[in-house]
Amino acid sequence: MIVSLPESPQAIADATWLEIEPLYEALATATIDDPATWLREWSRLEEIIEEAGTLAMIAYTCDTTDPAKEAANLRWSSEIFPKAIEMQVRLARRLVELGYSEPGLETVLRGFRTDIEIFREENVPLFSELETLVAAYQKITGGLTVDWNGETKTVPQLQPFLKDRDRRVREKAFRLGAQAYMEKRDEMAALFDQMYENRQQVARNAGFSDYQAYAFKSKHRFDYTPDDCAAFHRAVEATVAPAVARLMEHRRQRLGIDTVRPWDTQVELEGARPLKPFSDVAGLVEPARRVFNSLDPELGAQFNRMADEGLLDLESRPGKAPGGYCTKLAWRGMPFIFMNAVGVPDDVSTLVHEAGHSFHDFASHWQPYTWQRNVSHEAAELASMSMELLAAPLLELPTGYYPPDEARTARIEALEDVLVTLGHIASVDAFQAWIYTSGKGDDAETRDAAWLEIRTRFERGVDWSGLESERVSRWYRQLHIFEYPFYYIEYGIAQLGALQLWRASLTDPAGTVRRYREALALGGTVPLPEMYRTAGAKLIFNEKDMGELVTLVESELERLRQ
Ligand SMILES: [Zn+2]
Repeated sequence: MIVSLPESPQAIADATWLEIEPLYEALATATIDDPATWLREWSRLEEIIEEAGTLAMIAYTCDTTDPAKEAANLRWSSEIFPKAIEMQVRLARRLVELGYSEPGLETVLRGFRTDIEIFREENVPLFSELETLVAAYQKITGGLTVDWNGETKTVPQLQPFLKDRDRRVREKAFRLGAQAYMEKRDEMAALFDQMYENRQQVARNAGFSDYQAYAFKSKHRFDYTPDDCAAFHRAVEATVAPAVARLMEHRRQRLGIDTVRPWDTQVELEGARPLKPFSDVAGLVEPARRVFNSLDPELGAQFNRMADEGLLDLESRPGKAPGGYCTKLAWRGMPFIFMNAVGVPDDVSTLVHEAGHSFHDFASHWQPYTWQRNVSHEAAELASMSMELLAAPLLELPTGYYPPDEARTARIEALEDVLVTLGHIASVDAFQAWIYTSGKGDDAETRDAAWLEIRTRFERGVDWSGLESERVSRWYRQLHIFEYPFYYIEYGIAQLGALQLWRASLTDPAGTVRRYREALALGGTVPLPEMYRTAGAKLIFNEKDMGELVTLVESELERLRQ
């Protein structure tokens, strides 16, 4: 043993960096006689540390009102992990300098080499400054409230009113939500100015011309380029945007209105009343067991384990952080799903989506080293988005949640959402490319104008006249642009991959699930195109391939509407 490992993540729950640093230091200074043993111990250490931090994060998000949990989470996220990253680069450098490799480790080593190449000591304080700016953005957006008929509501709580049958209610909800962001526009623009400066500096320090070039490297995008993303944007403009315009025209006719305004895009067209798939957590979990079991007994068994071992925290309750996620207990080798279910169809989609991520964790856990089980976002979202489409036919009773007519309505909504979201992804990605490469991304006015111009390329069929500021406010709401720059095109790549799996499943459902599971089991050991190929898909950036999938979605929508 090179390092005396803590016996479990719980054993280091209260540790500070001072107690953790010697564990890394031992690996950094040990004489390496057998690289495989050294690597195994490092991997095991990473699992324990990662799981300890994850447990702190889970505890805090499940109960944000407990100051002790908040402090513990902060200790891990802002004190321990940033310092651990520096040590990880140091250990990675040792391994790379040894020239060691073994089968299945090539892509991990490629990632290590890239991290080493772009690491700069002087960027460490810039990253921690960025964390502070991100926290300031979260503070602003987390504190936004509106007055709804005398009642204080958060912006997300307006969501149900955007689906109201009464057009005046929808308009009011839309305007209040946009207004909340418009009032903070100057403050958020000033924050973004600082983030922009900071990121461009990080890029320059690492020897890159701009932050886009840096981001492609740091996100390990080895298999596609900014030019591919620009092609993706053009393909969305040519294929998705006209399809969304047709959706909106259909909507206009069904609603019997002159033009579709932004507050008309979410009201349900088919059913007489809003869908209510379940009323308590058991009503969410029990059908999900049946759905996954009938898709594949092994996936069903994995989901059952999570449900039975307390690895699902699904219901919305006071004090819980918003949103949903699937995370991994790296040491124990089990996933954990967190969400805020309130009984709407979105909750069902979220659970199925997060379950797709959890199947990825189960499938890749057999890989020997922790880094081989970590996957890129493009791969991760292929697992979750494909699961949404593959499970869709099973959401009907008696297996799932909905009587037949409601199942049809839910599927229509989900497929419409696929098209609308692709347009939004292109907007967000094209906008970020413009921000960091145009040379004008540092000017708040020009930035807003650029968003409007880009938005017009990709979003058609909605009448925004007289609502320019409201339309601008949309990008300030997109937290990725502030918190995770350039993280968005991954969803588009994965959605097109998922549509390819769905297309295959129409003629070969069993084979598709088998290939899906084979691809997931690869973890992070192969390049992205190979992972997609194993699943029966490819990376799509071009108009022809994208157009075929858009046509398939449109014809399925046509069939469902009849
Ligand atoms: Zn996801």
